[in-house]
Amino acid sequence: MNPDEFRKQAHLMVEWMADYMEHVEDYPVKSQVAPKTIYNQIESSIPDHGQEMEAIFKDFKEVVLPGITHWQNPNFFAYFQANTSPPSILAEMLTATLGVQGMKWETSPVATELEEKMMEWLRDGIGIPNEWAGVIQDSASMATLSAILTARERLSDYQVNENGFEGFTKLRVYCSDQTHSSIEKGAKIAGVGKKNVIKIPTNDLLEMRSGLLQEQIEKDIEEGYHPLCIVAALGTTGTMAMDPLEAIGRIAEKHGIWLHVDAAYAGAAFLLPEYQGLMKGIEKADSFVFNPHKWLFTNFDCTAYFVKDKKVLLNTFSILPEYLKTASDGLVNNYCDWGIPLGRRFRSLKLWFVMRHYGMEGLQKLLRLHIDLAMWLETEIDKNSSFELVVPRSMNLICFRYRPYEIEDEDAINTINEQLLQHLNAMGKLYLTHTKINGIYTLRMSIGQTNVAKSHVEKAWETIQKVAEEIAMNKKIE
Ligand SMILES: *Cc1c(COP(=O)(O)O)cnc(C)c1O
Repeated sequence: MNPDEFRKQAHLMVEWMADYMEHVEDYPVKSQVAPKTIYNQIESSIPDHGQEMEAIFKDFKEVVLPGITHWQNPNFFAYFQANTSPPSILAEMLTATLGVQGMKWETSPVATELEEKMMEWLRDGIGIPNEWAGVIQDSASMATLSAILTARERLSDYQVNENGFEGFTKLRVYCSDQTHSSIEKGAKIAGVGKKNVIKIPTNDLLEMRSGLLQEQIEKDIEEGYHPLCIVAALGTTGTMAMDPLEAIGRIAEKHGIWLHVDAAYAGAAFLLPEYQGLMKGIEKADSFVFNPHKWLFTNFDCTAYFVKDKKVLLNTFSILPEYLKTASDGLVNNYCDWGIPLGRRFRSLKLWFVMRHYGMEGLQKLLRLHIDLAMWLETEIDKNSSFELVVPRSMNLICFRYRPYEIEDEDAINTINEQLLQHLNAMGKLYLTHTKINGIYTLRMSIGQTNVAKSHVEKAWETIQKVAEEIAMNKKIE
């Protein structure tokens, strides 16, 4: 494709992109296709001859789009958002064009230096001590795995990296019974073993009970285990519960255990001074992760990973084969030594665009709007006696269920809520997901899409009530 042809196609696609952003609400939020519909429409092998862009783009519209769940539709209230924003998309276009592989400083100095600066902006913005260093990773899962590996190497004095697990076993990782599956996955990959991930029980608000953590660690030490790492969650995926960081930090400090903080979603909200209190105790932690690709309007993937002592991280991951040696080694950061992959995308550009476009003021305004909308919905749910909050609202996440007073059987209520979720999502007007809290089937509504406004939440709440009543009505007729 020559530059003129590229220009023509790119203009067409930019037009399409702007139209999409303008009309994204007209698409069903959750893709309505049946399994294999898309697969069966795609040719079974590489085409023999090159095809025209017009044909490819036509298929994009006709084959690809129906299989899209529209995460950028403001009525997307499922999981946690994976937001974009116009400045982020523009930066991604430029990044794709430059096609940089920023593994080392020399392979594109700006990819390293802008990343260093962006991690400082975020570090200072969310209240991480200024002696910490940050690096962009592809996912919170990868950052958590890095934390466990780094903890392992610090504890074994880098012997596992050298000699394998010889004589170094009985490691333990601690997290609450609410923490994300990535902790268990990380522990499995790091050789700790799933059975050595000890899940500490939680209180009514589903926060880790630090007293029980303390007891468990003492018992383990007595039995000859090596407590390796504690993972505290600031904002669990199920209900956005906040583990008591300061109390956990004191335990970690007392026993010299690596403390990793998983704030994958909620981390963005620490840009708000009113939530800074939750970060109390951060100086006792060793690492911290949050995803700008969730609630900070930056395209997936972009994970911010911070460590207190970058030397431990570098000692764990750095490699220097002859073909990677450069003259600037030692003078600059070579981020390939700060994590697992060698090759690295130029991800800091989109962060720079986003933070400059919105400014601190703009970011805070959006985050506060989302939290205010959740507060509004919380009050509405309180007012309607057929609905209840299953746990109190935390930030912008509402966990609730339909609970018509005439139905008392818990299983029947669970079934109704499951049906309610299915009906709502099948309508395509909004998208919610669920979790289970102590056996209660709970609807989760995360209000945080970049463009969500009061009208979307009002409409969603209206629809939820209407569909719930219809389901209850049909039950009665049965
Ligand atoms: C989303 C999430 C993760 C996983 O994030 P990835 O970047 O997809 O790996 C981990 N922990 C929490 C609390 C999350 O919300």
